Amino acid sequence: MEIKVLEKNDMSMRLLIRGADVPFMNALRRIILAEVPCMAIDEVVILENSSILQDEIIAHRLGLIPLKTDLEGYNLPEECPCKSEFGCNLCRVSLALDTEAKEGTRTVYSGELISENPDITPVSDKIPIVKLAKEQNLKLEAYARLGKGKNHAKWQPVSMCTYKYFPQIKISKQCDACGKCVEVCPRKVLVKAGDRIEIRDLMACTLCQDCVDVCPMNPPAIEVSWKEDTIIFNIESTGVLSPERMMNEAVKILNEQLKEFIRQVKVKKSEKG
Ligand code: SF4
Ligand code: SF4
Ligand SMILES: [Zn+2]
Repeated sequence: MEIKVLEKNDMSMRLLIRGADVPFMNALRRIILAEVPCMAIDEVVILENSSILQDEIIAHRLGLIPLKTDLEGYNLPEECPCKSEFGCNLCRVSLALDTEAKEGTRTVYSGELISENPDITPVSDKIPIVKLAKEQNLKLEAYARLGKGKNHAKWQPVSMCTYKYFPQIKISKQCDACGKCVEVCPRKVLVKAGDRIEIRDLMACTLCQDCVDVCPMNPPAIEVSWKEDTIIFNIESTGVLSPERMMNEAVKILNEQLKEFIRQVKVKKSEKG
């Protein structure tokens, strides 16, 4: 397998993977969505709430705020030695909010949450929690825990994780450069350059085939296909973990799952035989 990093920053990563197949890529995608843990608020104690929103709605909104995650510093609650339903310092972080609209209507933002661990904070300070009218207040204590996307989407560390085959576009000599394929392409992959059609951004192609369908030639002068063994893999983080870290975790988890699979196959074999 050959991997080329096409783009990488704190929030997203795009890889070109040669020699991979769809089941393997899909396994990694599903593990990133469902198994790579991250922090989210899971319990809220509302001490005072005179806002227009019910306690449950505020708790739900808090749960959906992405929190920067430290996978080294915390245990998954089910794996923590404390075995306590309330958690301990190794499996729980508390965040407090104590706010009031003294002068007039105002919005309470995620940045007002005070975390006991400065490394576990909302990824953005600008997520609205509730609007308070004059003299309304909100006081609460929230508890964040590591969790997995398969249990609740609030623990999903990505806003997007997709893959697609690497596209291939061929334009034959029959093309009369009518430009219909250029106009119809939703991703602006093609461009008209004088009396010919050129490929401007091959990677952007979604393989939708609209350009083939619109071509007036019979057979169409444009052909869109894909390389079976080459995949473009995209990860877009919510900001809780870096895309690179998520990929590393996903590979580790897949490795553990395969080891467990082999172990169980061996056990079953020895039971039979
Ligand atoms: S297949 Fe779709 S995205 Fe790709 S070039 Fe044709 S119209 Fe554009
Ligand atoms: S629609 Fe067909 S003939 Fe027209 S420019 Fe595209 S490939 Fe050429
Ligand atoms: Zn614990």
